[in-house]
Amino acid sequence: MEIHFDTQDIPHHHFLRYFLKAKRIVVITGAGISVSSGIPDFRSSGGLYDAAKSTKKSQGKSLFDAQVFRDTEKMSEFFQFMAKLKKKCDEAKPSKTHNFLNLLAENKKMIRLYTQNIDCLEDRLSFENVKKDIVIKLHGSLDQVRCMTCSNTFEIEDSHVESFEEGFAPECISCVEYQKKRIERGRRAPPVGFLRPNVVLYNENHPSGDIISSMVDKDIKRKPDLLIVMGTSLKVHGLRQLVKQFAKTVHSIEEGRVFFINKTPLSSEWIDIFDFQLLGLCDVVTTYIQTALEKHWKISRKSIVLSPVSQKTIKDYFKTVKSTSLSNSPISVRIAEKENIIENSNFDDKLKRATRKKSPNK
Ligand SMILES: [Zn+2]
Repeated sequence: MEIHFDTQDIPHHHFLRYFLKAKRIVVITGAGISVSSGIPDFRSSGGLYDAAKSTKKSQGKSLFDAQVFRDTEKMSEFFQFMAKLKKKCDEAKPSKTHNFLNLLAENKKMIRLYTQNIDCLEDRLSFENVKKDIVIKLHGSLDQVRCMTCSNTFEIEDSHVESFEEGFAPECISCVEYQKKRIERGRRAPPVGFLRPNVVLYNENHPSGDIISSMVDKDIKRKPDLLIVMGTSLKVHGLRQLVKQFAKTVHSIEEGRVFFINKTPLSSEWIDIFDFQLLGLCDVVTTYIQTALEKHWKISRKSIVLSPVSQKTIKDYFKTVKSTSLSNSPISVRIAEKENIIENSNFDDKLKRATRKKSPNK
């Protein structure tokens, strides 16, 4: 079902002008953008950590730690869990938020999308006439497997998933072939490596870490004029550094602004980093922005198959907003510094005074 906002019913928030003007947007996303696609996030109740707790030996987060490879039973649980998650991802369709990002890219407004997500839903977007490397997967990909010995990566196959489901890692074909050649030459037979999902766990380095760093450097040199961070609770150290690095660059531009879009608000430590937080479901917030702006875009609404977000979800969302009297708007816009709701009438004045000033309490 299509989410539809009647533009006449919603106030035209002044923050939209930054989206309208921006030419070099960098977006950083987390699990929150895929929840409506049916992929659970990590930290929410009912999320992946909770699901992992129900496994025999591992406790929540520990199932996503590199330590799992030191314990056969834990490793087996990890493989089974990843097989389940992979199947969920295969059934999922991109969300409204994914589609919004696709349009930003196709309208030549977004220069890069850094995602923490391993669900690969970005790969199902059209990204027409957009460079292939526009998406950087910070935590790897569930669509690939990597050899634990030779580090070669392969596209995941059904047979791999079946093996993971049974709690076992499949053998690496590269290693098997290499072993065969050595034996033929009468040499000592090297061990054959096992394949694991090509995702990055806690306490291990990203195998493509150097490539990602060079991409970040390249993007910083391009002077992005808008940073959007969405659907993440900003708990991972590396990501926090990345956000701060980009925010600094964006703020070196006069009209550069940094946005946070999420269901739950930022903590006070981010006051100097973000200029706006748009609180709500990512799908609702991005639909609002898209509805308000796409008449200015060359490429607008695309008929790609999206996850259904029911009209009920949207109505419930409006109800919450009204009952807490946050604002008449579908989105509560706050200046991160003050935690105050800024009314639309004097929004611009307050914006001028409030953005990027340091908190008096700090
Ligand atoms: Zn190998």
